[in-house]
This record gives sequence, structure tokens and C-alpha cells, in this order.
Amino acid sequence: APYLQVNKLWKHYGNFAALKEISLEINEGEFVCFLGPSGCGKTTLLRAIAGLDPQSRGEIFQGGNNISRLPPEQRDFGIVFQSYALFPNLTVADNIAYGLHSQNMSRQRIDMKVRDLLDTIGLPDVAKKYPSQLSGGQQQRIALARALATEPGLLLLDEPLSALDARVRLHLRQEIRNLQRQLGITTIMVTHDQEEALSMADRIVVMNHGVIEQVGTPEEVYRRP
Ligand code: ADP
Ligand code: ADP
Repeated sequence: APYLQVNKLWKHYGNFAALKEISLEINEGEFVCFLGPSGCGKTTLLRAIAGLDPQSRGEIFQGGNNISRLPPEQRDFGIVFQSYALFPNLTVADNIAYGLHSQNMSRQRIDMKVRDLLDTIGLPDVAKKYPSQLSGGQQQRIALARALATEPGLLLLDEPLSALDARVRLHLRQEIRNLQRQLGITTIMVTHDQEEALSMADRIVVMNHGVIEQVGTPEEVYRRP
């Protein structure tokens, strides 16, 4: 069975249909990109899967559970946005630990977890710094560590590399893919960058005007007819 299943999902803003009967299946451990021009509904679909906005109609299953009506705090995902969305007044360590405090974990275990995550993202020495003392790429790595801290089953990435300069972007593409493979975590990344989707995705979901136009591996999506 697929890990994530979206069934005839609709999303309206007033009379405007941003998602029109979207159906989609994603397997466990897959890295899937939602690709398409600005305004085609990529972020709306990602936010629906996260439960951040009420959907109009349809169902979403994750790990066999119907999650369409679960509040976001009961859902099993981590999310990274385009702009880092770190808490500016918390240290890096406290940013990463943020989601762990509600998990009834001892201070000691939280500290250990934070150290492990900082090692994993290659920033072992920044625990006591504040976000503003870090570069954009470093901040995005911290956002990634924060999203992974609770060991979610699903990682959602909304244009996580768009705000970074080209060199850092290329680096992070590799790092994110390596980390995703290492953890085996099912991942969805929204992007409008064809090359980014091509270089990162196991499968690409091509969207346009609120519908899915095509789904396939990078080879399938870009093979000439
Ligand atoms: P994106 O980077 O996905 O193109 P947008 O700039 O379209 O994002 O949207 C940024 C924010 O504005 C989002 O929270 C989105 O929900 C909201 N938004 C986008 N379009 C409209 C609209 N027509 N009316 C109201 N809010 C909108
Ligand atoms: P994408 O992520 O592909 O750029 P979005 O999912 O942000 O596209 O938006 C899809 C469509 O829905 C766009 O036409 C956008 O203007 C519209 N939209 C997004 N958020 C809102 C909102 N809060 N209110 C009204 N319209 C919105």
C-alpha cells in the first residue's frame, strides 16, 4: 500500500478552485517533487497534506490512517518553508529542540538529540548561536534539523532552496538528498525549478491550474514523445 494517498481532493478559495479533484499516491521512502508554474496549486496541495488549511472535499491517508480530519498537531510530519521561519530570539539549540518539549523528553535526551542533529547537518558548533548570526544556507540546515527532530514519517519542503544563492543551492540539493536517503524518510518538495526537480526527485508531479498534468520519474517526464 502507498504511504500517502490523496483521494479526489478539492480546495476552493471562495469560488476559485485552487485544487480540482487531485488524486495521488506516494510510496514510503520516496522523494517526490511538486513542479509547476507559480499559482498552479503546489503550495496549496502541500499545505492540505500538512493539514494547515481546511480542504474543501476529498480524503488524505497517511500510513493507512485517514488524516483528513486530524488537527495538524496530531499529524506526523515535519515542514520547512522558503524563508527560514526560525524563532529569532531562541538559540539554534532551542529552535531545534522546540518540538521535543511537548514529547515529554528529559533535558539530557533533548540535548543529546540536538547534538546528533547538528552533527548530521554538518554544523556541530553553532548550538549557542542565534539565527541572525548564521548564513542563509546554515539557517535552512537548522530549519531542516528542526523539522526532523521529532522523527516524523513525512518531510514536507516548500521551496526550501529558492531564497539561497546558486552555489549554496547546489550544495544543499545534494545534502538534502543524502540525508533523505540516509533516513529513508518519505519526502515531498515543492519547487518551480525544473532542474531542481530533475536532479533531486524519484518522481515528479507536474501541476498546472490546479490539476496534475503528469506523474513520473524524471526520465519519464522529460523523455521526448
Ligand atoms: P508562492 O510562493 O507559493 O507563489 P504566493 O506569493 O502565491 O506564494 O502566496 C503567498 C501567501 O499569500 C500564501 O499564504 C497564499 O496562501 C496567499 N495568497 C496567494 N494568493 C492569494 C490570493 N489571491 N488571495 C489571498 N491570499 C493569497
Ligand atoms: P503555487 O504554490 O503553485 O505557486 P499556490 O498553491 O500558492 O500556488 O496558489 C494556487 C492558487 O490559489 C493561486 O491562484 C493563488 O493565487 C490562489 N491562492 C492561494 N492562497 C490563497 C488564499 N489564501 N486566498 C485566495 N487565493 C489563494
